[in-house]
Amino acid sequence: MALKLFNTMGKTLQEFKPITEGFCGFYGCGPTVYNYAHIGNLRAYVFLDILDKTLTYLGYKIKHVMNITDVGHLTGDGDDGEDKMKKSAEERHQSVLEVAKFYTDAFMKDIDALNIRHPDVICKATEHINEMIELIKQIEANGHTYMAGGNLYYDISTYPDYAKLANLNMDELKAGAGRRKVVVVDENKRNPGDFVLWFTKSKFEDQAMTWDSPWGRGYPGWHIECSAMSMKYLGKHFDIHTGGIDHVPVHHTNEIAQSEGSFDEQERAKGPWVNYWLHNEFLVIEGGNKMSKSSGNFLRLQSLLDKGYDALDYRLFLLGSHYRKQVYFSWDAMESAKNSRKALVNRTKAILDAAGGKEASDAELSAKAKEYLELFKADLENDLSTPQALSRLQMALKDSSLTPQETLTVINKMDSVLGLKLVEYAKKADSPVADDHAGDPEAKEIDALVQQRTEAKKAKDFALADKIRNDLAARGVIITDTPSGPTWKRQ
Ligand code: AMP
Ligand code: ZN
Repeated sequence: MALKLFNTMGKTLQEFKPITEGFCGFYGCGPTVYNYAHIGNLRAYVFLDILDKTLTYLGYKIKHVMNITDVGHLTGDGDDGEDKMKKSAEERHQSVLEVAKFYTDAFMKDIDALNIRHPDVICKATEHINEMIELIKQIEANGHTYMAGGNLYYDISTYPDYAKLANLNMDELKAGAGRRKVVVVDENKRNPGDFVLWFTKSKFEDQAMTWDSPWGRGYPGWHIECSAMSMKYLGKHFDIHTGGIDHVPVHHTNEIAQSEGSFDEQERAKGPWVNYWLHNEFLVIEGGNKMSKSSGNFLRLQSLLDKGYDALDYRLFLLGSHYRKQVYFSWDAMESAKNSRKALVNRTKAILDAAGGKEASDAELSAKAKEYLELFKADLENDLSTPQALSRLQMALKDSSLTPQETLTVINKMDSVLGLKLVEYAKKADSPVADDHAGDPEAKEIDALVQQRTEAKKAKDFALADKIRNDLAARGVIITDTPSGPTWKRQ
């Protein structure tokens, strides 16, 4: 099978064909660092990490680029409202750069806790103003812009494919109606769908950060940073662009208009700016409400940690749903993710012990073990189907026809994509079966005896091993040896 991805451009499942054989360049829209990321935002980065790790698993060399928006993102996705960074800086009595640094550091801490690999390039908007200005000059030279009221606008009527990504209705757009209903009317715009490439101080006198430009001193519109930085690091044509579903009708639509609007004849002939557009659906809280930073209605990763959850419980919770499905957050769902992860760690611990920590080599794998891995690969190739991939792991863990060494190999390979750190946590866990007996007051002591028996057997002290088994039997506790280690239950 080949990797198939659902492309928002065209809305079909398509076979992934990279521009360069064996290589995938991709860009994910990064955070706006005026506040903590909420757990909905973090869904976007767990999804991106699954894409990253899947491509690597499938043997691609990758270049993963992510921006940090530290300037220019207004409180709305359009051109109205205040600058989010400036507003936050005022509230905190700090400089905009201090705020940006604080929340960038907090974001990096969150993604580390979620075992998200750092993108190969993390680029800040404020460090790429020159690239943005150069790009805007090309867009201007191609006749897509006009100056009005001190700002430079992109005229969407000059770009014929503007409506393509989001299937927008151009007539509605012109009327400021439909999905992109215009709430605040900007008199300077020729078309309500037009957007600002460069703001000058004539509109925002008190803007915190401004730069010189051919259009006057000012600052960039939000959308231009992603066009400029992605092309700087990935070239004028690259494979995949990702973001949350909310970015389809405005941000990504505008990114395409800008990027392709900057192309000359030759570049246009080479094909689109981006070949595959992937979007994750939203995390919603019970009641169907959207979690959003600006509404203040949000949970941070820290909110989950404060309640005693591990960040990887949240990762597992997310992997249990396909990235293109809305997922409802609830504390009950977190509780069951926590229990599932514990069970996975416990199983891994039992297998690790039974395998003596030794993995089977690829050559030693049985047909059955290889089949699990093939099916797992097919799950990922089917538009990154993590729920299936997870259940594949669970099936392999339970399959007693695999040797513990084989199962360990299967765990390690699958977990290189799922990112649950199963072996690392299993090594830290003190008992393989403790959580299967939650509520049993003697569980800890029995676990310790079972563990002692395993060690006695390993040391070939069968007399001691038998004694422990018999003593426990006398207490009504029956040990069963499974290929993945011992389990026990009360009679
Ligand atoms: P922001 O920091 O607001 O620019 O958003 C960062 C990323 O999170 C973007 O890709 C958004 O599309 C995405 N996002 C925002 N809210 C949610 C949500 N509730 N669920 C999933 N993704 C979201
Ligand atoms: Zn972007």
